[in-house]
Amino acid sequence: MAREIKVPNIGDFEAVEVIDVLVKAGDTVAAEDSLITLESDKAAMDVPSPFAGKLTEVKVKVGDKVSEGDVIALAEASGGGEEAAPDNDADSAQGEHSKAGEKQEQPEPRSEPEAEATGGESAGEPSRADTGAGAAGPGRSAPDAEADAAYESAKQGADRGCEVLILGAGPGGYTAAFRAADLGRNVVLVEARERLGGVCLNVGCIPSKALLHAAEVIEQAHAMQQNGVEFGKPKINLDGVRDFEQNAVKKLTGGLAQMAKQRKVSVVTGYGRFTGPHLLEVGEGKHKQTIAFRHAIIAAGSEPARLPGQPDDPRIMDSTGALELADIPKKLLVVGGGIIGLEMAQVYAALGSQVTVVELTDGLMPGTDRDLVRIYQKQAGEQFEAVHLETGVKELKPQKNGIHAKCEGPDGEWGGIYDRVLVAIGRRANGKEIGADAAGVSVNDRGLISVDSQMRTNVDHIFAIGDIVGQPMLAHKASHEGKVAAEAASGERSHFDVRAIPSVAYTHPEVAWAGVTETRAGEEGIAVEKAAFPWQANGRALTLGVSSGTTKLLFDKDNGRIVGAGIVGPNAGELIAELVLAIEMGCDAEDIGLTVHPHPTLSESVGMAAEIAAGTITDLYLPKKR
Ligand SMILES: Cc1cc2nc3c(=O)[nH]c(=O)nc-3n(C[C@H](O)[C@H](O)[C@H](O)COP(=O)(O)OP(=O)(O)OC[C@H]3O[C@@H](n4cnc5c(N)ncnc54)[C@H](O)[C@@H]3O)c2cc1C
Repeated sequence: MAREIKVPNIGDFEAVEVIDVLVKAGDTVAAEDSLITLESDKAAMDVPSPFAGKLTEVKVKVGDKVSEGDVIALAEASGGGEEAAPDNDADSAQGEHSKAGEKQEQPEPRSEPEAEATGGESAGEPSRADTGAGAAGPGRSAPDAEADAAYESAKQGADRGCEVLILGAGPGGYTAAFRAADLGRNVVLVEARERLGGVCLNVGCIPSKALLHAAEVIEQAHAMQQNGVEFGKPKINLDGVRDFEQNAVKKLTGGLAQMAKQRKVSVVTGYGRFTGPHLLEVGEGKHKQTIAFRHAIIAAGSEPARLPGQPDDPRIMDSTGALELADIPKKLLVVGGGIIGLEMAQVYAALGSQVTVVELTDGLMPGTDRDLVRIYQKQAGEQFEAVHLETGVKELKPQKNGIHAKCEGPDGEWGGIYDRVLVAIGRRANGKEIGADAAGVSVNDRGLISVDSQMRTNVDHIFAIGDIVGQPMLAHKASHEGKVAAEAASGERSHFDVRAIPSVAYTHPEVAWAGVTETRAGEEGIAVEKAAFPWQANGRALTLGVSSGTTKLLFDKDNGRIVGAGIVGPNAGELIAELVLAIEMGCDAEDIGLTVHPHPTLSESVGMAAEIAAGTITDLYLPKKR
């Protein structure tokens, strides 16, 4: 017989809004699976099923108001109907569970460390002097001696030689070059662009964040109208905005050129391709030169991916085109609801475009925990004209009056005319464009290169770092890998061995996460305890006019150490850094909760989330904690 599932004790709250219904009649649920999400003015909380079974009816819908004891659903309990988890109360309701089966971007699988197994350089004693010319000496392995000899031979026919050659001067490449030079290596840095800094500094992280800052100022000025301060409608001078963006870029890239000089890193401008295991050719025609290298570090990055059959039309932009800010289109279609697409959507929406976002999967920011995205999406919904999930673009057709987009989603086909379209569907690694075959370096069909924990490819003396070795495609991952590769190429025993790489969406609100996500914990059966502190109870958030946000921490159930964290709200990208350190240091809830955080700050939400886990929180009333 069907049994009633009721709203448990949710503290002092009455008539709390249902903001999400996560199940439907016919679903089979396990004990503790989330059924609905409630949001009060203090907290968002999931209500879990008190027992395993099959739902026969769901009695609530989004927008309903419920209180303790209201019936949420009817279910037939499996296994005789005994309650598997009688604890259907505020304690268990406090946790925010993500929906099962959500997709998570997986890091690119790495090959096993081959160099160590084959007795390459990393297997022997580190020999800092083994990177230059010269025959094998005492303590040098046979592969070292062979590579030395091969380099010597390559140098005979080359225009120049170097101990470490770096292909690509993005955050991975320039960091590797500078570190190798600081370790005393003779370094050549080859870069196709006029300016150093790669995608990140020239057409990625830096220009996009400058534009997002402009967008934030516009949005905040608008929001202050409700709080007694009016600025009037903003006047946008696109030249001025572009100057602001480019000044940041020029300062940073100019600084890199200066630092390369100071370190005596030789910068060669031109497109490079390997022509042998120790040779790279740069440039064309009479500008062509060949460079012999003892070690190489491939840091050639990635390019924006294109839609199949995507027509060439200046109104169909990739992220680079969007950052050029040619105009403010009246109607903009953003194809791809990942971080890059949403950041640019935010910029154009703030500047005045009507933005429509289409995303192929069932949620924005694929790979991010749904409870975090839900908070973001609630606000994003207000910023954009429309967001279409589970929707693909079938065709983009340039017409005189705009780009006609034919899309297909859950309700069938629909179309629309847009002044511009931004295609932000991911990035393609550049492994196929660099003549890797000639050097013997294996590249997969997606252009990615496999490496070991020293960033070494299948060829012992050639390393690869950054976007070209796979996810997460982030600048800080690239630069850390760059240091490891430079040190390993210089004979040091460095390995890339981190517990957490933070990801940040610089949207409004920001979304940041690090380490194990709830989605991954569910998929991999990692037992975690979750504690989430709602920003509605954070003093600083209220003084900033922030109405929602969360700081959630995940602790390993076995040893109590923090393994993951996620934050939504302004400055989430800054706040996550403390939690990355906590994960690296293996902190438990008490370590974080007993750390004195300044008041009033958003950082207090980190300490208070840890206090929830430790059961010592006083800034919220949570029944049944000690
Ligand atoms: C719009 C946008 C916003 C982003 N925002 C962020 C962010 O906020 N935070 C973050 O962490 N990441 C961000 N990223 C991602 C970040 O830019 C990349 O992860 C990072 O730049 C990768 O660094 P890399 O060193 O691997 O390669 P890249 O930065 O891609 O640099 C590779 C360089 O190699 C050069 N090159 C390639 N092939 C050759 C060749 N054969 N010869 C000579 N030169 C060659 C290229 O010209 C390029 O300069 C963003 C990306 C975009 C597009």
